[in-house]
Amino acid sequence: GFKCGIVGLPNVGKSTLFNALTKTAAAQAANYPFCTIEPNTGEVAVPDPRMKAIAAVAKSQNIIPTRISFVDIAGLVRGASKGEGLGNQFLANIREVDAIVHVLRCFEDDDITHVEGRIDPVSDAETVETELMLSDLESIERRIVQIRKRATGKDKEATTVLPMMEKSLELLQAGKPVRILLKDIAPEDLPILQELNLLTSKPVLYVCNVAESDAATGNAHTETVAKMAAEQGAETVTISAAIEAEVAQLSDEEAKEFLDALSLEEPGLDRLIRAGYKLLDLITYFTAGPKETRAWTIQRGTKAPQAAGVIHTDFERGFIRAQTIAYNDYVTLGGEVAAKEAGKARDEGKEYVVQDGDVMLFRFNT
Ligand code: GDP
Repeated sequence: GFKCGIVGLPNVGKSTLFNALTKTAAAQAANYPFCTIEPNTGEVAVPDPRMKAIAAVAKSQNIIPTRISFVDIAGLVRGASKGEGLGNQFLANIREVDAIVHVLRCFEDDDITHVEGRIDPVSDAETVETELMLSDLESIERRIVQIRKRATGKDKEATTVLPMMEKSLELLQAGKPVRILLKDIAPEDLPILQELNLLTSKPVLYVCNVAESDAATGNAHTETVAKMAAEQGAETVTISAAIEAEVAQLSDEEAKEFLDALSLEEPGLDRLIRAGYKLLDLITYFTAGPKETRAWTIQRGTKAPQAAGVIHTDFERGFIRAQTIAYNDYVTLGGEVAAKEAGKARDEGKEYVVQDGDVMLFRFNT
């Protein structure tokens, strides 16, 4: 499954957010409720109103949402790249996630100590990023010597890896994250960059943790973060972890009232989960029948056999073809039979790139 790592300096609200995230109604309503994989890893249901519409048409007994994982990665302090705090463990944990959710403290509260003694989210972001860049720099400098030797020996792999390493090294030496390369990287170069597994090449989402009173509007701090994020091509979400912690305790109805009173349209966590999904470039396809309507997660660009493989490896191995109905056709025409009659059920083969919202039925050999 896909994993987002929650990082940030101590006392910015990471645990509060993580706990709310994994206790939220969306996670509990799922047939796969939040489950603790490891102490700091939780799976959450991805909220998607399309499931309800499909289930109504297919007369499904159950709705099973798709899920993504969040990992609470504690222990970052200034000097982590030199092993301070839980430095090495921290960096190893980040290496294992697909994307980074970076929580920044944008609330004032004299009772809660800030490790640097002042509220300055952009500077906090730089502190964390510096540790990640130092770690990447060390890792590249160590590896590039070997690669340079192999590349002169006409090692084919080394000759493709070396230019990517050099580009990364140049950015890091200039104090910039490797993520900048993602903005206009050629599709064939992406796997080479990913293979380097650098911390600063992972996509980032900044979460501005604000006071209750600023949740709907943001504040001066969130504006400076938004500006910084835009320069990096990163996304931001403004959330009040304190509000989310309360909402997570309420029933759906109570939560709605509570959010209305704060002029909020939906729980911030729903926005966060969707943003995480977008950050990872994930899309959803559906399977539907009387037993269940179910959502499945794939990376954008995945072809039908690999998409089928998410359900079961046998589906991929024995893949023959896929009956595909676009979400809008499925719902407006009133289901599979009607879609077939209207000529809207397509028969797709091995090269079909699955689209967001497709309602799929796979045919396969066992
Ligand atoms: P972590 O160290 O980043 O995991 O931070 P915690 O989630 O443990 O939060 C540190 C402290 O800040 C706790 O006492 C939280 O209750 C408090 N806190 C977290 N979010 C907010 C917030 O949005 N507003 C206020 N006033 N306090 C918060």
